[in-house]
Amino acid sequence: MYVNKVDALIIGGGHNGLVCAFYLARAGLKVRVLERRDVVGGAAVTEEFAPGFRNSSASYTVSLLRPKIIADMRLHDRGLRILERDLSNFLPFESDYLKLGGGMARTQAEFARFSAADAAAYPAYDAALEKVAKVLRDLALETPPNAGGGLATLAAGARQGWPIAKLSLEAQRDLLAVFTKSAREFLEGWFEDDRVRSAFAFDAVVGNYAGVSTPGSAYVLLHHVFGEVNGKPGAWGHAVGGMGAITQAMASACRDAGVEISLESPVERVLVDGGKAAGVRLESGEEIAARLVAANVGPALLYRRMVDRSDLPPDFRWRMGQFRTGSGTFRMNVALSELPSFTVLPGRAEAEHHRAGIVIAPGLDYMDAAFDDAKALGWSRKPIVEMLIPSTVDDSLAPPGAHVASLFCQQFNPELDWDSHRERVADLIIDTVDGHAPGFKASVVARQIHSPLDLERKFGLVGGDIFHGRMSLDQLWAARPVLGQGDYRSPIRGLYMCGSGTHPGGGVTGAPGHNAAREILKDRGLLGRLRARF
Ligand SMILES: Cc1cc2nc3c(=O)[nH]c(=O)nc-3n(C[C@H](O)[C@H](O)[C@H](O)COP(=O)(O)OP(=O)(O)OC[C@H]3O[C@@H](n4cnc5c(N)ncnc54)[C@H](O)[C@@H]3O)c2cc1C
Repeated sequence: MYVNKVDALIIGGGHNGLVCAFYLARAGLKVRVLERRDVVGGAAVTEEFAPGFRNSSASYTVSLLRPKIIADMRLHDRGLRILERDLSNFLPFESDYLKLGGGMARTQAEFARFSAADAAAYPAYDAALEKVAKVLRDLALETPPNAGGGLATLAAGARQGWPIAKLSLEAQRDLLAVFTKSAREFLEGWFEDDRVRSAFAFDAVVGNYAGVSTPGSAYVLLHHVFGEVNGKPGAWGHAVGGMGAITQAMASACRDAGVEISLESPVERVLVDGGKAAGVRLESGEEIAARLVAANVGPALLYRRMVDRSDLPPDFRWRMGQFRTGSGTFRMNVALSELPSFTVLPGRAEAEHHRAGIVIAPGLDYMDAAFDDAKALGWSRKPIVEMLIPSTVDDSLAPPGAHVASLFCQQFNPELDWDSHRERVADLIIDTVDGHAPGFKASVVARQIHSPLDLERKFGLVGGDIFHGRMSLDQLWAARPVLGQGDYRSPIRGLYMCGSGTHPGGGVTGAPGHNAAREILKDRGLLGRLRARF
């Protein structure tokens, strides 16, 4: 039986669900968010994983969150503080290291230790990537034109294509290269030293179950530079209190706007009546009626599990069966009794490299081998690991003198039986860090493991996909999740998508939630269209 009819139900209280709920409530709708877990935030949460040790459990660093959303939700007034990293990355190699960031001149000086030509090429590379990233940044809050939509599609396509048409020919060539080439091909065109290339190539395999030689992997690299921190393009930062500080501030904005947030309310089924979304049924059996439903969960979860097959057109259903999801990310949090001392840069006293993203991915061949291994064995014998130690800048996360570290590791087969391999692979990852920082293993006093399977079970990320679906050309922009449904609408009237499985894709951007809310309002008549002007 239907009870408590609301205007809009949001399935999932991830950051995009909260952003969508906020804009809808601000426009006067009665909105209820239904979150499966006992905490909002989805993949952007902070949790205590061992007594006294807290960390961002999944997503751990911020850059992509759109400044407009920060301002509209007044997240800074609600306590959100984002600290820039003074050094972006530290890469230990066998007998040397590279520090990336801290300004152009400093990075060039670092590159010059390996290659004068690469040091000289860096400003042009940086400028070229920034031009292309700016296009992406500007498109993030636009709704992609919906293929098959006639004149309106044509007009929207032309409007969104205009910034690309305005780019110089060189920039258009770079754009094409980024969208089609592998990260290896792209980076080999710019730099000669493998260590310098690997400093950038890491971004191409983040959340991407692919090698750096896989065509299209250059795009994932670009996706990681379209953000900004406190107005500084391309920078990454730390949310004080962990990523949960972002989503707690968002939840507070939602509540102030009148949104009702229900935790521990897992949705089982989207209810459809006469071809229109009519509400949801919870796993408890309770049915809740609504004028519209917006799904923050990914397309695979929504269309393969929550919507009845008979409610979807056969071609759409088939294509959603083909939607590629599964990023092969293994994510751990460790509690540390002391900071690591690296063979190539010894010392446990806190130094700038401890505050950087510490990337163990020494060379393009290493990264390709990791993927080849994962395909053959299920995981890489020499894994790609990024370690971030947020407690170096945020004393709210660990007891005095102790630390927490995020270990973000790539190339683990999402389809493996992780219940049988989880602990062994966690040991391998810790051994990998220990290989560069002897004593690290002994300093681990507690650990939290998220294999791809754990990411699915805990966060609802099908195949452990950190982006709700692969970020490949066939699943981007108007084709995310599929051509014809790239405008946040679904084949079912009144059912919308507002999560990372829609444009502009994964990452803590808030953009899908923002754009979906605008489209939802546009469908609500003249008043809605007026309120959709944001
Ligand atoms: C390990 C990892 C590391 C990452 N690192 C970064 C990073 O450092 N920086 C960055 O910008 N991005 C990062 N990302 C990507 C980013 O976190 C995600 O793309 C983003 O948080 C997704 O937000 P969302 O709101 O679209 O979806 P989600 O956060 O996935 O939210 C979906 C919500 O739906 C809920 N849900 C699931 N099933 C149901 C159900 N049946 N009923 C009700 N609710 C349900 C979930 O519990 C969840 O709260 C990372 C992701 C992961 C997993």
